[in-house]
Amino acid sequence: MLIGLDFDNTIVSYDSLFHKVALEQDVISHTIPVNKIAVRNHLRSINKEDKWTEMQGHVYGKRMNEAQAYAGAIEFIDRAKQLGHSLCIISHKTQYPFLGPQYDLHKAAIGWIDQHLVMNDKALFSKVDYFFELTKDDKVNRIASMGCDIYIDDLPEILLNPLFPADCTRVLFDPERHHATSIEGEIRVVNSWKQIEKELL
Ligand SMILES: [Mg+2]
Repeated sequence: MLIGLDFDNTIVSYDSLFHKVALEQDVISHTIPVNKIAVRNHLRSINKEDKWTEMQGHVYGKRMNEAQAYAGAIEFIDRAKQLGHSLCIISHKTQYPFLGPQYDLHKAAIGWIDQHLVMNDKALFSKVDYFFELTKDDKVNRIASMGCDIYIDDLPEILLNPLFPADCTRVLFDPERHHATSIEGEIRVVNSWKQIEKELL
């Protein structure tokens, strides 16, 4: 079975890092929850949308290496490989930030994969196993051309894209439980990597 994985906010959690950077830059107080959306909503509420945009470039670029994998993600990948499944990462991401210093965001993400997605000192993904596309449609086309049997993403709009391959099982990763347990178009909703491992492997 070929299992396709989204990258940002599916494998990688940015909650602690955005919170940390926002505290360093003195744009939030400690009362704001350790949560990316809470940081974003706060900055929007005080009319600092540009600050938020710039912070994204900083976090996804310069500070990328400090981001952490979601609990259980690396164990899931390792277990799936042990069971003989193949895995690939298919993401979409702009190459450079919209605002601020022009970090190469693809390079930062690949550096993170090489450094963090390892088990017993062995890389879990090689160069041929990850794809960073520039648009959502390119991403969905890649999921189709790779022939993924399962694809896991945190964004319903990817799984509901009209180009999404009909024979691929669609799984929504929803750790904060924004969605019901199943949503339109028979998308399966899961809340943790432990659950994905239990139900899909
Ligand atoms: Mg994502």
